[in-house]
Amino acid sequence: MTDKLIKIAYLYEDLMNTYGDSGDVKILRFLLKRQGYDTQVDNISLGDEFNAFDYDFVFFGGGQDFEQTVVAKDIPRHKDTLEKYINAGHPMLCICGGYQFMGDYYKTNSGVTIKGLGIFPLHTVFKSDKRMIGDTKYMTEWGEVVAFENHSGQTYFDNTDKLHPLGRMIEGYGNNPQDKAEGLRYRNFIGSYSHGPLLKNVNVANAIVEMILTWHQKRLANQENVTE
Ligand code: GLN
Repeated sequence: MTDKLIKIAYLYEDLMNTYGDSGDVKILRFLLKRQGYDTQVDNISLGDEFNAFDYDFVFFGGGQDFEQTVVAKDIPRHKDTLEKYINAGHPMLCICGGYQFMGDYYKTNSGVTIKGLGIFPLHTVFKSDKRMIGDTKYMTEWGEVVAFENHSGQTYFDNTDKLHPLGRMIEGYGNNPQDKAEGLRYRNFIGSYSHGPLLKNVNVANAIVEMILTWHQKRLANQENVTE
């Protein structure tokens, strides 16, 4: 592994990429380049082998309900590696449908229940009262964020002691119409309903770059220890 190459896993890039979510990866590549790092982005799609610990960053974008049913059949193979990677505090960003997959399930408007990985105690349900669409604004630990949301799933935390939102809503819905909370922040994991893409908010993008570079150094050191 070269010390100036950042490896990014893009989960189901060909199926999960709504409203320009791939822009998040492009922005990270741009910011990393400015710091002298090259990037390699691997699309991990249906049937592909995947070990999250081979990567410096994992990205999972949003998707339509249909694509989510396709991904749901393949993704359970990766639960173990993703759960370990997330719990070890390594950086991952999940947007909208990708974020929903990290919870227990997503019950869609057609009554289908799409099983999630169950990494976090949260669930997502369609309720006929609202499709959450429009501009959003919320406050995070890195300052204000502006974005766009479009989802019919409403996400609820089932263990509010363990789970903390990414932000507090100023405008728009975020996780659901009641909680005034947007997304999930756990160690270096970020789940969010924000498209636009989210990382046009350079405050969040810079925070993620820092997480990536910290983990990259550790990964490099581990690799050296293994090969010695
Ligand atoms: N299909 C999901 C929903 O409508 C996710 C949408 C998205 O990823 N933009 O809730």
